[in-house]
Amino acid sequence: SVVRDVSHRKAREAVLTSEAHTDPLTGLLNRRGFAAYIEESGSGTGDRRLAVFDIDRFKQVNDTYGHAAGDEVLRTFARVAKKVVRENDRVARLGGEEFAVLLSETTLDQAMIICERLRRSIEKEVTKVDGRSISITVSGGIAEIVKNGDIDETIAAADLALYEAKRAGRNQLALAA
Ligand code: GH3
Ligand code: MG
Ligand code: MG
Repeated sequence: SVVRDVSHRKAREAVLTSEAHTDPLTGLLNRRGFAAYIEESGSGTGDRRLAVFDIDRFKQVNDTYGHAAGDEVLRTFARVAKKVVRENDRVARLGGEEFAVLLSETTLDQAMIICERLRRSIEKEVTKVDGRSISITVSGGIAEIVKNGDIDETIAAADLALYEAKRAGRNQLALAA
């Protein structure tokens, strides 16, 4: 069992450092790395939650300030998210302006609190590009990670909740059914 623990830890470290698992723009895990990490770290007992965040009206940011400024905003999200979540949580960029957070050992109430803290931090943060100040908001969806469950299904469930948050007016969170 010690041998298994060590090899699990090594596999986790490999996931976290491999280029194939990293998003070059933000340095976060990419979707593939995130899925691999969730699988590798799944041997614990506590409840785990997955939150998906999507930047609101991001197309407008690109249209108004340019694509490079949009990239800077994506980096801002990554930096703030890493700062706001707990040490054992993991932030990833699923693609485009969509991010995810794996919340370990987390009740539903705790997940709401952490995600709400992130939503508010992003709302308050300003990205300065060429002397211009860019503000954004994010919407989020939260789902439960089922042990040995399909991670794509979990992301899809969180995405569905995210869609509800968008529909309800954006800059808010919603829970998966
Ligand atoms: P919503 O509130 O519904 O999420 O609206 P939205 O404008 O954020 O959504 P939409 O999917 O229409 O637009 C997403 C935009 O994100 C379009 C695409 O050009 C931009 N985008 C995707 N990846 C990148 C990237 O790596 N860098 C930049 N700057 N923009 C990106
Ligand atoms: Mg968006
Ligand atoms: Mg999107």
